[in-house]
Amino acid sequence: GSSVHQITSGQVVIDLQTAVKELVENSLDAGATNIEVRFKDYGLKSIEVVDNGTGIAPEDYDSIALKHHTSKLTSFEDLTTVTTFGFRGEALSSLCALSDSLTVTTATAQQSPMGTVIEMAPSGTIKSRSGKVARQRGTTICVSGLFTPLAVRRKEFERNAKREFGKALNLLSAYALVPCTHENKGVRLQVSNQPNGGRKTVQLKTDGSTSINASVTALWGPKSLENVVDLDLQFLVDMDRTVARRLKDSGEGDTEVKVKGLISSFAVGCGRTGTDRQFFFINGRPCSPSRVQKAFNEVYRSFNTNQSPFIVANFILPTNACDINVSPDKRTIFLHSENNLIQALKVICHPSHSQLPS
Ligand code: ADP
Ligand code: MG
Repeated sequence: GSSVHQITSGQVVIDLQTAVKELVENSLDAGATNIEVRFKDYGLKSIEVVDNGTGIAPEDYDSIALKHHTSKLTSFEDLTTVTTFGFRGEALSSLCALSDSLTVTTATAQQSPMGTVIEMAPSGTIKSRSGKVARQRGTTICVSGLFTPLAVRRKEFERNAKREFGKALNLLSAYALVPCTHENKGVRLQVSNQPNGGRKTVQLKTDGSTSINASVTALWGPKSLENVVDLDLQFLVDMDRTVARRLKDSGEGDTEVKVKGLISSFAVGCGRTGTDRQFFFINGRPCSPSRVQKAFNEVYRSFNTNQSPFIVANFILPTNACDINVSPDKRTIFLHSENNLIQALKVICHPSHSQLPS
């Protein structure tokens, strides 16, 4: 029944930030280079994500939000090497079950400049399908009344709306930095909010640059790059035996880890105490590897007491060396041999080491 669907959905989409994350990931998966996120009343009223990606073909309308329908996996083996963000086909299905309404406006290259508006039912089936509307290639998904079907969670959301919105913005900042982890593919991301009865204001905006410095400047201003140095590490990690064998079998060779990004200078210190401006990626996928984060902070604090560096760190690993299929929200990424990795990281970040960020 629908209540079971609501409960399982509530485990995939746990809060405002995961809802937005899933929508933005879908846009990135669809190859969008322009993504606009519009919040109404901090997301309480609606969240709308507009992209210029591939759009959805008419033959796929029926299955858009059916549970476990995904267009992204073609074989079971894909699970270990998947490079798209989505692969479970649970996000849209969950959002349908957890909101007042979900509408999809979409056009493929063939249909552009005309698109179709599809209104989904809570079960994920099509409730109504309108005629044609003007729409360039891409997809718009609008979710209204998030969590209304779960009364307790909706209350919670209403009570903490501004804080939840802040968390969503922070996560969107991480997604704004994703293009910097890929070569030659810039994405323009714009995020706005319109408070109830107020004016719409832009909260965050990037210019589509693939340069990490340009994106950081666009997000937080030029001052945020003062006393920040490049993070560019490279080391070999001993993986446990099974993983090592798997890597060898798959022909991926050594488990060389590269870490690229930015970090506050160890020598000068940064004066920051909060850890809110620390962004981690594994192969370009935003994530929260809490033990890796802790290792960075520990090393940093051994030189700059009580300070927390600004960090943008993309870990480049063979895809078989991490397991992205752990938590339903896909934020927890399990790294094989994490202890060895952390050990290597501590050694390499230590100022006596030649690769120390100065
Ligand atoms: P998943 O991303 O795991 O495949 P989702 O529930 O997030 O599952 O999305 C279901 C399907 O809907 C996707 O596989 C994709 O085919 C389609 N889809 C969703 N959002 C978009 C979008 N913005 N552009 C193009 N296709 C989309
Ligand atoms: Mg998805």
